[in-house]
Amino acid sequence: MTTAPGSLESLRSRNRLRVLETVQQRGAVSRVDIIRTTGLSRTTVSSLVAELLSEGVLSELAGPHAPARGGGRPATLLGFDPDAGGVLGVHLGHDGVRVLLANLSGGVLGERQREIDVDHLPADSLAYVADTARELVDASGHTMDRVIGMGVAVSAPVQLVSHALRTPSMLRDWTDIDIAARLRERLGVPVHVGNDANLGALAEWTFGVGRGADDLIYLMLSDGVGAGLILNGRPYEGAAGAAGELGHVAVVDGGYVCRCGNRGCLETVVGTRALVAAVSHSRGPDTTLADVVELAVAGDPGCHRVVVDAGRTIGRALSGICAVLDPKLVIVGGRIAAAGPPLLDGVREVLARRLPAAISQGVVVAAGRLGDRAEALGAVALATRSTSVHLLAP
Ligand SMILES: [Zn+2]
Repeated sequence: MTTAPGSLESLRSRNRLRVLETVQQRGAVSRVDIIRTTGLSRTTVSSLVAELLSEGVLSELAGPHAPARGGGRPATLLGFDPDAGGVLGVHLGHDGVRVLLANLSGGVLGERQREIDVDHLPADSLAYVADTARELVDASGHTMDRVIGMGVAVSAPVQLVSHALRTPSMLRDWTDIDIAARLRERLGVPVHVGNDANLGALAEWTFGVGRGADDLIYLMLSDGVGAGLILNGRPYEGAAGAAGELGHVAVVDGGYVCRCGNRGCLETVVGTRALVAAVSHSRGPDTTLADVVELAVAGDPGCHRVVVDAGRTIGRALSGICAVLDPKLVIVGGRIAAAGPPLLDGVREVLARRLPAAISQGVVVAAGRLGDRAEALGAVALATRSTSVHLLAP
């Protein structure tokens, strides 16, 4: 559903979204908590909460209530109704597909993943998504009519209005495929598509380490590399849905040719394939990313070196953005983030060296809390937000 920007209806939708965000980010909240967090008036919050209660999206939680300030009656806590239905989250990465079923709070009810050459096999990838979604819903004891929607994270810039992929050079075989329409047809639920790094940022902001941070940069480090932004407490996608497309900024002159056609992109240096390739010469061709992470943590000099160098390269790539945006938090996400200190220290060292102290001393560099599940969980958050206007209404 679309509403004219600036209309009363659009204002109400935005306010409703802020109430839902507060519940998603904080779990159990009182009406007073919502008023304080959103800055909305008591009347607006009361009316929106009443609407969400009557639709069965929220429910009043039994059990301990928040103590009232000033000794009045304890406040009733609100949370998502456990019967409000499930949400499907999908990540179409470059190297595989992940499908999960979650509740509205981002709690995972079931999950499957498979390695597929997603870039070149759109039909197989979408068939796997649809079949797996049905299996997960069946296994959970729910039915499809209790699923409020599906979110899909894809590794290309996405124009959210049309759900169209904008950069054919990056996912050539997906050009002209309307992912949302294809999956909606097969599953009969609303489907919303977003860029994977943007959705990783949304997930860490909603369910993870970024809760409560109004300005953050999330860096997705997987087979693909990208950044997602939350600015002024809102997800920021840019004019063409391509904000944060950091993985395809050249960091090495004359480096390897990237999937986008350019040379020396950040992705060719710190993407998981590049990190594994960097140690395969000394450790053999069967080395996996999990090996690199485990050995780096255990202090193996070669793997430690690869991870520290990756952190430094990331720091260089992020320093310009940090200088412009002055974020509170930089989140390094993806499977490589499990390497922890060697990676994060590399990022911190370079940011401290390249940025004005006023910025570098204020920014916290942290590992993502959601690992390589972040993008699929961001898709869950997207679907919940996108259907929030008429969630569960007939
Ligand atoms: Zn590239």
